[in-house]
Amino acid sequence: MDELRYQIDLLKAMNQQLSGRDKMYRLVCDMSNNAFLYVVFEKNDVITLGNWDNFFSFRIKENRELSFIFDELEEKYILPVREAVFLEKSGKEREKVVCHLKEGQTTRPFRLSWLEFEVKVNYDEQGVPIDKIICIRDITKVKAQNDELRYMAYNDALTGLYNRNYFVMQLGELIRKAEEEHRIVSVMFIDIDDFRKINDGMGLLVGDEVVQQYGQFLGSFSGDKVIVCHMTSDIYCMAIYDPCGDRSVEHIHKCIQERINQGFLLSNGMEIRLTVSIGVAEYPESSKQAIELINCAEIVMFKAKAAGKASIQYFDAGILHDFLQTVEIENKLKEAIFNKNFCLYFQPQYYTNTKRLRGVEALIRWKDENNKMISPAVFIPIAEKNGAIISIGSWVMEESIRHYAEWKRKYGYPLIMSINISAIQYKRKDFVGKLLEIIQRYEVEPSEIELEITESILIEDFEEVKDKLLTLRDYGVKISLDDFGTGFSSLSYLNGLPIDTLKIDKSFVDRVITDESTKIITESIVSMVSKLGYETVAEGVETQDQFDYMQQIGCNIIQGYLLGRPVPAEEIEQMLIELL
Ligand code: C2E
Ligand code: CA
Ligand code: CA
Repeated sequence: MDELRYQIDLLKAMNQQLSGRDKMYRLVCDMSNNAFLYVVFEKNDVITLGNWDNFFSFRIKENRELSFIFDELEEKYILPVREAVFLEKSGKEREKVVCHLKEGQTTRPFRLSWLEFEVKVNYDEQGVPIDKIICIRDITKVKAQNDELRYMAYNDALTGLYNRNYFVMQLGELIRKAEEEHRIVSVMFIDIDDFRKINDGMGLLVGDEVVQQYGQFLGSFSGDKVIVCHMTSDIYCMAIYDPCGDRSVEHIHKCIQERINQGFLLSNGMEIRLTVSIGVAEYPESSKQAIELINCAEIVMFKAKAAGKASIQYFDAGILHDFLQTVEIENKLKEAIFNKNFCLYFQPQYYTNTKRLRGVEALIRWKDENNKMISPAVFIPIAEKNGAIISIGSWVMEESIRHYAEWKRKYGYPLIMSINISAIQYKRKDFVGKLLEIIQRYEVEPSEIELEITESILIEDFEEVKDKLLTLRDYGVKISLDDFGTGFSSLSYLNGLPIDTLKIDKSFVDRVITDESTKIITESIVSMVSKLGYETVAEGVETQDQFDYMQQIGCNIIQGYLLGRPVPAEEIEQMLIELL
């Protein structure tokens, strides 16, 4: 009997302990802000714990009623949540899923939108599920904060468009997809023309507003297959997956053009008109890497700028080759200037009628470290772009005049030394002073020096150019207009300019025998120019026919392979010795 009483007391004590634990668990659950469902499989009943009422307006009493939850969810989350809630079916122990609730559920006590379900199943030794606990958390706030952080990390504050980093990531994704599906991805690199003028002329705030408005406009193309980003400053990029139809580059370009033509109305009431230069590169043709693809599009954007802005250019292998060559030459050029790896060749010019040597044109030559000759036609334009032409040009002036002074002293034959001057050199304030100083130092006559300038000099700041030319003329330095006929060639420009010589470009000389209209133009140029009192030089004369023809129409001077190629200084010296 005592034994039985003992057993009963023990059971009572255990029961009390149990309900005490039960109370404790309930308390913990209540304080946690989460909702819990406790399911005991054997009994098939479900206990609701924690803040259930803050989450849902219905109750769940048995296992199958768990599906009530699914009615609350946005469609695409139903399946993953169902799999988690009935985790025992997969034999897994633990699972976590995030889901979004359906919009417009008004029965909920406060605004919930994102939930996290965490499910834990306990199994017995045979692997049979005993019970499970489902914890439901409100992660709406965390998600919003994450979204905000994500937005800040991936978007640009000024335009709201994606930033460069995110664009590169997304472009990488598109490329992967295109690789699988054998599709194309186009990248458009878009740069507002003359943006600096807007910033400098109207202030940074106006500049910002332009960037913002234009960004918003470009953002309107965003969609499933189009990603738009603000790279930096006034530069945007677009990636277009499988470009065709209204997502084709041509179509987007047309829309951009139409929008730009309407102008942008700024908050200060001002209307601003823009143009943009666009470079386009395509996966897989241009590159298979996101960053390289953007670089390719950028390279061709610069080409669009160089081709007069407001245009679109498409990438091809030739452009990449040119670009890489330019970069290589630029790098080598720096060394060459440092090591003075240049030398001068001189090409003779002869009077047409007497065949007397009139003078020589100094032409720069560059042998790179492998003794490979790089043509000035290739490296001079690069040196002009990166400013290296200033030191190269100074060297040419000094070196050519030094040579001439030496020949004059040794052989006394009066010549004209023609020196090519690039527009950038000419624009420098100290140009005239420097030249006159060299002329004085080597004790040659200013009238023995001829500067070959191109028409491009005349386009910019005409008055300043004219003043400089007049100063040079006062000292007696000769001026020759090089490559005549290739530029804008308005003879009216020449009016009032102190020019002595006009060099008719080789392209005319090339066609003068075969092409009737070239013949007419060349004849009228020579006739008009001689009436104005200039001398005319025919450049690039290679054949006797060309020589005869130029002579017949009254061209004074001939330069070309027919009479003499550009040669090193020693060969000119040899010629002068023979003339003694
Ligand atoms: P450019 O001033 O028009 O020089 C004439 C170019 O035509 C030279 O090429 C010359 O070698 C070439 N030439 C002359 N006669 C003939 C001919 O009968 N047939 C053919 N096919 N070519 C002929 P080069 O020396 O390669 O120079 C190319 C250009 O590089 C020059 O054109 C000039 O614009 C520039 N350049 C050369 N030296 C200098 C320099 O010292 N300073 C500057 N700024 N530019 C230079
Ligand atoms: Ca020349
Ligand atoms: Ca020329």
